[in-house]
Amino acid sequence: MRKKIVAGNWKMNKTAEEAVALTSEIVHMIADEVTSDVEVVLCVPSLYLSTLQQYATGRVSIGAQNIHQKASGAYTGEISAPMVKSLNIPYVILGHSERRQYFGETDEILAEKVNIALENGLKPIFCCGESLEQRQNEDYIALVQAQLTNALFHLSAEQFGQLVIAYEPIWAIGTGLTASAQQAQDMHAALRSHIASKYGAEVADNTTIQYGGSVSAANAAELFSSPDVDGGLVGGASLKSRDFVNIVKAI
Ligand code: PGA
Repeated sequence: MRKKIVAGNWKMNKTAEEAVALTSEIVHMIADEVTSDVEVVLCVPSLYLSTLQQYATGRVSIGAQNIHQKASGAYTGEISAPMVKSLNIPYVILGHSERRQYFGETDEILAEKVNIALENGLKPIFCCGESLEQRQNEDYIALVQAQLTNALFHLSAEQFGQLVIAYEPIWAIGTGLTASAQQAQDMHAALRSHIASKYGAEVADNTTIQYGGSVSAANAAELFSSPDVDGGLVGGASLKSRDFVNIVKAI
């Protein structure tokens, strides 16, 4: 059976002191309150990866929010997959819509980032999703499927098995507008069948597909009850320990 994974995406939030407090609160609350075998990942600002890695125990691990597509070199301000690997960080978010929108990340760049992440033993949490305009005017299911084709389908089945997919409709990110459980289920099922068409049913069945976009303690249980929704990628609500742990408990 595929893993259920709830990941927090802190984005560009929290001071060093706040980051340590939030991580240790979450780790303790999860240890005390969560009995399911859900995996929890905190994707934190890169500046804190090393410190917070020391607090990650039990089912909680730490992830990065981005890496550069090159292994090293003259790329001022960037961090590389080998650097993240050297801290024993297991996960990295790739292709978040904010990276695509504000930092010009294309499917081609993301294919390179996925490659270097996998070469370094990092598990990408690969984000995909459509804008509101695309949902209203285009074949948005085909469009999101194409994001997978373009950035991921050059991988072998074994490599693909290392990935987590996060479906995040852009219109639902940070807006308070969540996809309905049915809308999420429809897209997740379409993505799973797209994966099956390339890699076969077994790989598709084993792929964790998270939903992201205004997941909250109030809506998580309903979203997670859909058969193809295997957890969440949580932004705003991951910045408060109680809210985030309640979302984890909704699995
Ligand atoms: P949100 O962000 O939960 O604040 O909508 C989700 C994300 O961007 O990953």
